[in-house]
Amino acid sequence: MPLIVQKFGGTSVGSIERIHHVAEKIIEAKNEGNQILVVVSAMSGETNRLVNLASQVDSVPNARELDVLLTAGEQVSMALLAMTLHKLGYEATSMTGYQAKIHTDSNHNNATIERIDTAPIKALLDDDQIVIVAGFQGVNAKGDITTLGRGGSDTTAVALAGALQAKECQIYTDVDGVYSCDPRVVKQSKKLDTLDFPSMEEMARRGAKVLHLPCVQHAWRHNVPLRVLSSFEEGEGTLIAGNDCLNEITGIAIQNCMLELECLPTDLDTLLRQCQLLGIEVWSVIEETERVAILIKQDAGLKLKLVFDEKIRNSEQVSLLTVVGNRAQGIVVSSQELLSKNDIDIRHYSLAQQSLMLVLSPTQVDTAANILHDAYITACGESSHIQKEVHFG
Ligand code: ASP
Ligand code: MG
Repeated sequence: MPLIVQKFGGTSVGSIERIHHVAEKIIEAKNEGNQILVVVSAMSGETNRLVNLASQVDSVPNARELDVLLTAGEQVSMALLAMTLHKLGYEATSMTGYQAKIHTDSNHNNATIERIDTAPIKALLDDDQIVIVAGFQGVNAKGDITTLGRGGSDTTAVALAGALQAKECQIYTDVDGVYSCDPRVVKQSKKLDTLDFPSMEEMARRGAKVLHLPCVQHAWRHNVPLRVLSSFEEGEGTLIAGNDCLNEITGIAIQNCMLELECLPTDLDTLLRQCQLLGIEVWSVIEETERVAILIKQDAGLKLKLVFDEKIRNSEQVSLLTVVGNRAQGIVVSSQELLSKNDIDIRHYSLAQQSLMLVLSPTQVDTAANILHDAYITACGESSHIQKEVHFG
């Protein structure tokens, strides 16, 4: 029997009614002849509530005990869901990360899954049970409870799907799929029916919020087809599978709250070393004839300025706009033209194999996203092949 892993996020299990609705979705998939393994998040707001309680005790709470506290959230939803399934006449068993033998390293609050001993879950699935595993938690070699970092339930789901060779890992959330851009910014954004892993990885890396980067990378590495879909609406969602980027232009990712830090060329190596020491991710290094700069997240900038302040010549808030697709390399000139016609200045751009990243002013990024989306995605969806050639020409 094929195995499907279904992951339900916080809003999907946010109330008893929502849990009931989720149970019906699970039963539907089960009745189609699948084995079902469910991963749940804590009810919406619950993890924040627990973090807040801990911070009232100590501004830096003991890391081990914080994990003990936070894992309680997922235990509530898994038990309520199992009870609901029982009530509806189905056999279901809930398991903590410890019971499901999800082994992690000892990095409390941000642990990494090292291996999963699948025997206990397999035994239950073979016994025709619906198995419900708490997301975002595991156990270290000492037997202590660990958590995987905020949003980690998606990672639990793909890790289980990979270890058990599931047919598909379905991530149920409050949007009905992956969009060509953030629909709150670009109204014309369209839902993508399918998407390849390289494009999804680049979108997630460059700011698309729908899936966490580690979740996408894990699924890709383990060849687990991922499907993003809504637990509120019917629909097929977006299927993410395949190693090849087939789309000319897939989508546009936006990342706000970035800093461009300029230094003397002779200080660049020291600056990069400082970032490495402080665990700060450098998104890009800009080396132009007359200036050298790096791009980092704004919150990381505070840390860096503490130790490097006197050597930073200029610091500017910027936003990144990344166009993803295998024709990204061919649209540099036309993008520059389109944006400059609208008085939008590209501070810097960089090209990767399947993406074009533009550094823009935060006040212009949304307009730029609309212009480029209109030109390369909306227009191409509607226009003929000949017009398409003209656009990319
Ligand atoms: N409940 C955890 C969080 O809110 C994990 C998750 O939902 O993925 O971060
Ligand atoms: Mg999430």
